[in-house]
Amino acid sequence: MNAPIHIAGLTCQELQQSAAELLTHGRGIASRVYRDALRYGRFAPERHGLSERAVADWRAHFQFSLPEVLRVVSEEAETGTTAKAVLKLSDGLECECVLLPMGRGRSTLCVSSQVGCKMGCRFCETARMGLLRSMSASEIVSQLLTARHVLGWEFRNVVFMGMGEALDNPQLPAALRILTDGSGLGMSQERITVCTVGRLDGIATLQALGMKRLNLSISLNAANDALRSELMPINRVAPLSELSLALQRYRPRANFVLGVNYCLMPGKNDSAEHAREVAEFCKPIGRVMVNIIPYNPGSVPITRAPSEDEIDAFIGQLRDHGLPVRRRITKGRSVMAACGQLGNVELRSLRKKPGAAIPPA
Ligand code: SF4
Repeated sequence: MNAPIHIAGLTCQELQQSAAELLTHGRGIASRVYRDALRYGRFAPERHGLSERAVADWRAHFQFSLPEVLRVVSEEAETGTTAKAVLKLSDGLECECVLLPMGRGRSTLCVSSQVGCKMGCRFCETARMGLLRSMSASEIVSQLLTARHVLGWEFRNVVFMGMGEALDNPQLPAALRILTDGSGLGMSQERITVCTVGRLDGIATLQALGMKRLNLSISLNAANDALRSELMPINRVAPLSELSLALQRYRPRANFVLGVNYCLMPGKNDSAEHAREVAEFCKPIGRVMVNIIPYNPGSVPITRAPSEDEIDAFIGQLRDHGLPVRRRITKGRSVMAACGQLGNVELRSLRKKPGAAIPPA
C-alpha cells in the first residue's frame, strides 16, 4: 500500500475523489474531515460516527501531521511582535515562517516555498544555502496551519517572501488552490501575495491560473541590467526588458497594482540616477506600489544598513518622479527574521544533490 496522503496537500474535491477511490468505508465524511483538518488543525475521523473499521481505513490512507516547531524567536517593537518559527520537515530539513506586525493590531504571515534557494541574490542569506529542495504543497500549507493552531498566531494576510523563489516551485499553484479552497482555509485571493525575482515562465503560469484577485510583487532592487545582474543572477537570463514585457502582460484585473520591492543598499542602488531608472522601469507597467525595504545585513554583508536620512532621501526622489512609495519598517533584524535574513546555512551539509544553476526564464 502507498504511504498515507497528507490531507493538507489536497483541495476538498481532491480529498473526496481520493476517498472515493481508496476507501471501502466512511468515504461520505470527506468534506467534514477536510474542514476539521484545514480549519481546526485536527484529523479525527472518529468524531463523525464512523465504525472502527472505517476510522482505520481513513488512517491507513490519509494522514495529517504538522511539522515540529524547533524554535521560535521574537522581537518586540512599537509596531508589535515579530516572530520567526523554524519548522522541521519530515526529512529533517527546516523551513522558516515569520509573523510580521503590520500595525493596527494586524499581522501578516511570511511563508517559505523552498528549503534554500538557487536564485543566488547577493543580498540574501537564504541564497547562501543553495537550493536543497522545493517544498510540497502540504508543507507550504502546513506552515499556516502550524502558525495558527500550534503557535496560536493570528494573521490576515500571507506573503510568499520567506525562503525560496515561489515561482520556482511547481507546487505553488496547488498550494494556492488549497489556501483559497472555501471548504477549508478559505483565504480570499486578495490576502495572498506571491513575490518573485522575475521568473518569466512562473509569471505566465500564475496568469494561466486565472486567480484574478491574487497579488503579485517583484523583487526589483535595480533598474539597470548591469547592476541588477550583479545583485540578482536571474537578470542574466531574464533581463529588465523581458521582465517589463511580462509584467505589462500580467494585468489580472483592472485595478491591479503590482508591488515593486526595492531593497535599499547604501552605495549600491540608492543614487538619484537609480531612482530615475526605477521610475523609467515602472512607467510602462501600469499601477505600481514601490516598497522600500532597508537592507538587512546578514552573516556576509555586502554593505551596511541604510540610515534613516538615506532612506528618506531615496523615497523622496522616487516620489518626485511620481511613484507611490511605501517604506517597509524593518522588523525582526535582531532575530534574523527580517527580509533577506532567513536560512540556515548549516543545512547545506544535508543537501542530497547540489542545486542546479539558474534555470532558463
Ligand atoms: S531574495 Fe528570494 S529569490 Fe533571491 S536568493 Fe533570497 S530567497 Fe531566493
